[in-house]
Amino acid sequence: MPLAITESADLSALNSFGVAARARRLITLTDEADAPEAIDQLQSAPASLLLGAGSNLLFTRDVDGTVLKVSLAGRRVLDAIDGGRLGNAQVLVEAAAGEPWHDFVLWTLAQGLSGLENLALIPGSVGAAPVQNIGAYGVELSEHLHSVRALSLDDGRPCEFAAADCGLGYRDSRFRSSAGPSRWLILSVRFALSRKPRPRLHYPDLQTAFPPTAPPPSPLDIAHAVCAIRRRKLPNPAELGNAGSFFRNPVVDAIHAARLTANHPGLPVYRDPATPQLAKLPAGWLIEQCGWKGARRGDAGVHTQHALVLVNYGRARGSDIAALAADIQASVIERFGVRLEPEVVFV
Ligand SMILES: Cc1cc2nc3c(=O)[nH]c(=O)nc-3n(C[C@H](O)[C@H](O)[C@H](O)COP(=O)(O)OP(=O)(O)OC[C@H]3O[C@@H](n4cnc5c(N)ncnc54)[C@H](O)[C@@H]3O)c2cc1C
Repeated sequence: MPLAITESADLSALNSFGVAARARRLITLTDEADAPEAIDQLQSAPASLLLGAGSNLLFTRDVDGTVLKVSLAGRRVLDAIDGGRLGNAQVLVEAAAGEPWHDFVLWTLAQGLSGLENLALIPGSVGAAPVQNIGAYGVELSEHLHSVRALSLDDGRPCEFAAADCGLGYRDSRFRSSAGPSRWLILSVRFALSRKPRPRLHYPDLQTAFPPTAPPPSPLDIAHAVCAIRRRKLPNPAELGNAGSFFRNPVVDAIHAARLTANHPGLPVYRDPATPQLAKLPAGWLIEQCGWKGARRGDAGVHTQHALVLVNYGRARGSDIAALAADIQASVIERFGVRLEPEVVFV
């Protein structure tokens, strides 16, 4: 089958901000056998981009090159493989990169497998999940990632990365290079899940939903609670364009954090016992203190309930949202001496 190619493609429905942008060429990859040919096409284009569901991207202008939309489908349980090393209660599952993340999570729960329930309703595709090591409600993908199968964008070479080789960190991985776009096309991802649930309820919203005195919830109960909390708290991109948290929570050295809390006693500080010399600060709190919550400039704005979520009220351009983000960064530096790094990928 020839590759599905669209010239001068409209990308506005392919990004959750809903901003207008076009690509010189859009290739939709639905069959893994076509991946080498798709990579050839990317190599011959001056600028190229891998696209999942577009829920963590900001198009600041048109793409003068090729966009490869990864729409590979398929998921399966691989019980027997690796069973010895993982132990009896652990099960390997695999999903193709284009599978919608939330559907995949629900499917794992329907197989009686737990581990991903706290990550329910995160928008996007399976293939992008390792790219920024998605996380929510006290769980990160890294805790359940087994391996990633990918092709090199440089020479088409296949590679399987064990989780330990994926460079996973807080909203970070080797597939999200700060030096430039990732050089790997992720084809499929494997997860190590469990038949014995281990509820992770330490996150405050989940403690409220499931008080310690109540019987332990099932993984599906937890997923439903997470969905309800997310629907209550986060704007739905289908109704209000956004890409979730726009910035990462900044990590500063402990001395800087101590100075900040002396001047701003209300500042929440998160410490990890494993790295006592560092402290994580809530980006949303810093932005809110600078007066940005609910701010609006034309159709680009800061959500009224969440200072960390930038929104498109309708016709904002990506460059409008980027300019707003730059002004937010400048005021947080001026007031707190802290640089906010975008979580969203600028294109
Ligand atoms: C309302 C909302 C809530 C959100 N909440 C959370 C949250 O709680 N936690 C969280 O971590 N994130 C959250 N996000 C961000 C987003 O859902 C995740 O980053 C998600 O993994 C992005 O998936 P995607 O398919 O949309 O990726 P895209 O936005 O399409 O791409 C993101 C990056 O991954 C690369 N990429 C995509 N597919 C591939 C592939 N197959 N191979 C190699 N590289 C690829 C792209 O080139 C790009 O650099 C939220 C977003 C929204 C809109």
